Amino acid sequence: MKTCPACRIGRLRERLMTYLEWHGSSLLVASRMPALVCDVCGEQVYDDHAMDNLQQLLWSEPLRGTSSVSNSNGR
Ligand SMILES: [Zn+2]
Repeated sequence: MKTCPACRIGRLRERLMTYLEWHGSSLLVASRMPALVCDVCGEQVYDDHAMDNLQQLLWSEPLRGTSSVSNSNGR
């Protein structure tokens, strides 16, 4: 369990948060993003891997409302 970098007292617990980010003129809402939340000061640290995945989704695919990725080429 990690110690909170902000207050150095609390501990970071993994929680599923709703992440909001403006992407151009559209608001991206990623529900159930794994984040680490301090149980003392409430500092939120998003999971690096989850952020990487989210950024890859953002920059590789045009937003179409849903973020489901399917690679069905007829096979
Ligand atoms: Zn804290």
